[in-house]
Amino acid sequence: MRRARLALLCFSIVAMTSAAALAGERKDVPDKYKWNLADLYPSEAAWTAAKDALGKRLPELGKYRGRLGKSPRELLAALQTMFEIDLELSRLSVYAHGLSDEDVRAARPREMKQAAEELATAFSSATSWIRPEILALDQAKVRKWIKDEKKLAPYRVFLEETLRRKPHTLGAGEERVAAEAGELERAGGEVHGVLSNADLPYPTIKLSTGESVRLDASAYSLHRQARVRADRDKVFAEFFGALKTYERTMGSTLAAAVKGHLFEKRVRHFDTALEAALFQDNIPTAVYKQLLADVHRSLPTLHRYLGLRKRMLGLSELRYQDLYVPLVASVDMHFQPDEARGIVLDALAPLGKEYTDALNKGFSSHWTDYLPSTGKRSGAYSTGVYGVHPYQLLNFNGRYEDLTTLAHESGHSMHTFLSHGAQPYPTADYPIFVAEVASTFNENLLIHFMLDHAKDDAARLFLLGTLLDGLRTTLFRQTQFAEFELAFHEQAERGEPLTGENLSTLYLKIAREYYGHDKKVCRVDDLLAVEWAYVPHFYYDFYVYQYATSMVASTSLARAVREEIGTGKTTRRDAYLKMLSSGSSKYAIDLLKDAGVDMTTSAPFDAAIAEMNGTMDEMERILDHQAKPATRPTTAPKR
Ligand SMILES: [Zn+2]
Repeated sequence: MRRARLALLCFSIVAMTSAAALAGERKDVPDKYKWNLADLYPSEAAWTAAKDALGKRLPELGKYRGRLGKSPRELLAALQTMFEIDLELSRLSVYAHGLSDEDVRAARPREMKQAAEELATAFSSATSWIRPEILALDQAKVRKWIKDEKKLAPYRVFLEETLRRKPHTLGAGEERVAAEAGELERAGGEVHGVLSNADLPYPTIKLSTGESVRLDASAYSLHRQARVRADRDKVFAEFFGALKTYERTMGSTLAAAVKGHLFEKRVRHFDTALEAALFQDNIPTAVYKQLLADVHRSLPTLHRYLGLRKRMLGLSELRYQDLYVPLVASVDMHFQPDEARGIVLDALAPLGKEYTDALNKGFSSHWTDYLPSTGKRSGAYSTGVYGVHPYQLLNFNGRYEDLTTLAHESGHSMHTFLSHGAQPYPTADYPIFVAEVASTFNENLLIHFMLDHAKDDAARLFLLGTLLDGLRTTLFRQTQFAEFELAFHEQAERGEPLTGENLSTLYLKIAREYYGHDKKVCRVDDLLAVEWAYVPHFYYDFYVYQYATSMVASTSLARAVREEIGTGKTTRRDAYLKMLSSGSSKYAIDLLKDAGVDMTTSAPFDAAIAEMNGTMDEMERILDHQAKPATRPTTAPKR
């Protein structure tokens, strides 16, 4: 099971990057806005001592080799040792990363980070024999031990999970070859990364403001939002023009990555690349296919959205180049950090007093590094150490996005806090598939709280527009990516070649269908066909669909919890909180099912689409009202 062990990087990263530019020095930041890494180790010297001691412990594992099948007691002792070392390793790693993130320029923390990574590599090679040895045991015997030996209970999931992999695990020699092939399989993605992050000659353009911009991927995602249409046209033409000159190369790098996925599928005896990828977290392929089918069925909702966008931007024809301008220009909202904490706590009240009290306590006990400072890592994330507490890094700059990020990261942190509090260490970390549910759930409660307290139509329209754009980009755009990803894998599985040119043809076909090009809803120019070439996620092996499923699940769950408010019932809330305390004690799909969303059905998706349509109903009402001429003449200016 892939667990959300280290820092959770979040959607908000691009929006946050400018924050550090305005920052002062870390020494001038008041202590109450800093996290406290001393809760992990009192000093760097203590960290070093712990690291050295752990390095010396690694050989301990070797003494259990060949003995796991002797008795439940020997198996238990080996697993206890392995998980103890694993926990100390995570503590070392979080400390080193945290220290380095306070000032990424500092050399010593970077060395510490590297030392922790080296120790982690040594740990994984010192434990590489454990799973194969368990697999070689008689399964019935292992299951009987789990039942009879109470002390093995915390390790049940680990053992079951190891046994589940048996049909797809190879002999020792073949596993070694497969592991080495794994290194080669990453080459396509690595070449793509170097090309798109460093070597690609991105164009420099001049905007209508007179500003000159080098259009790399991050500048592109910023300037495609330009309010001036001629600017965004230029941005699209130049950026996609540059990608187009590397279309063939990018096709080769992606084809190489897909070959790697197909190799895994073949040697590990899966029917399809999709099945091989989803097997890791035990997600049924039906969940993926269900998402694609649900989105197709709901394209009229996307087209309704596109119509509304066209109206709000006052365009006679909507084109793909017009999709990133914010629907509503930002309204003036500014928040102090303490005020933001108060708002987030109030907004999360539907989760109950126990939840908000714990979060409030976390706010005042240095879980969070709030403010930007020179050299601090940009963006936002949440992490944590079992037996200590969650940590979250922000670059809070007082804007509405920053408030959202605080709610989002606090969602991760509370998930960590509750799971760590309720679970033994081996099942304390939650699966990736549910991680972004806890964070986006909180974003949903926040935006509804803000809507309930918005002071005028302009603020309401801004908030509704933000909610709507989030749903549109996550539900539709990420699923569009997921559909493309499945289609090019299937193309390769049929033995058809993958080239830059045919990837572009495929991409354009899907994009045109989604955006209603033929129905004249939104024009998708030929130029856009090469958009796939800059998206790194296509190298992650069926990862991106989880953004959409997380949003579907959280929107549906939050809606159910909000609907309970005032009824005196807390059934849905309690089920959701139980999921937050369940870590990885069950598979992700079962955790969500217990919380009230069955991701193998369309019901949660329909709830999310209902929210999207409800949001548009309200926006249209406000716009219609604003469009109406005043009914009585105004004789004096109103205040
Ligand atoms: Zn997140």
